[in-house]
Amino acid sequence: MRINIQLQCTECKRKNYATHKNKKNTTGRLEVKKYCPWDKKHTLHKESK
Ligand SMILES: [Zn+2]
Repeated sequence: MRINIQLQCTECKRKNYATHKNKKNTTGRLEVKKYCPWDKKHTLHKESK
């Protein structure tokens, strides 16, 4: 089962990316390094509901 999630920048708290994950093979909260256009650098983005 795939669920849609949003990735929120941990620095400016903006939701920059939308993605989805499979609940079966993804445990816990998703954390990815992505480019934030607001901070103009790569920051850690975390799953947010
Ligand atoms: Zn940011």
